[in-house]
Amino acid sequence: MTTVFIISAPSGSGKSTLVTRLLGADPGLRFSVSYTTRKPRGNEKPGENYVYISRQDFLARIAQDEFLEHAEVFGNFYGTSREVLDQAQQEGKDLMLDIDVQGARQLKKTIPEAVSIFILPPSRDILEQRLRARSEDSEDVIQRRLREAAEEIRNYEQYDYVLVNHQVEESTVTLAAIIKAERVRRIRMERQIGPILKSFEVRPTVLR
Ligand code: 5GP
Repeated sequence: MTTVFIISAPSGSGKSTLVTRLLGADPGLRFSVSYTTRKPRGNEKPGENYVYISRQDFLARIAQDEFLEHAEVFGNFYGTSREVLDQAQQEGKDLMLDIDVQGARQLKKTIPEAVSIFILPPSRDILEQRLRARSEDSEDVIQRRLREAAEEIRNYEQYDYVLVNHQVEESTVTLAAIIKAERVRRIRMERQIGPILKSFEVRPTVLR
């Protein structure tokens, strides 16, 4: 049984680092590579970070109902394909989705047992410092990301877990613990419980 984990966070909160660490340490976890209409950035690799497609192609895929969820984020389309979930199910792996708050809301409707985690920076000042430290963005973009973060964090209530990312090592341990605990929820254990119960069934006594 595949467990779907959703992670959302404002830009600069350290989400990508945490996701990369989790995936590196957990062979049972697969990353859901989304489709997007935005252009690749920096050293992003097609098929690894995203599948990059045209707006026209994206709209055609929406019409064919290929997405589990999709949303327009900062002027670009992003979507999770149904195929990714099918593949994870076939492989018997869990799935990690890095999607925005709109996508998380849609997915929880389709898959209510999905586990959602929201990552918060410790404060606005710390988020600003982190955005500056990675020196990827111009001053305008930094200010825009801070405004967007203020909007996004208001949605924390729709998530099952909220993690304040003070320190990356500690946050990775906490996230791994959430994943571990969710995997032993009773609803996910039925398959394993059956044979155990069966082994306790009374056996006929052998007469000598
Ligand atoms: P970026 O362009 O910085 O990689 O991502 C921008 C935002 O889009 C992030 O909040 C990211 O979580 C979100 N995003 C990425 N893939 C998907 C997707 O498939 N669906 C939705 N709803 N959001 C996504």
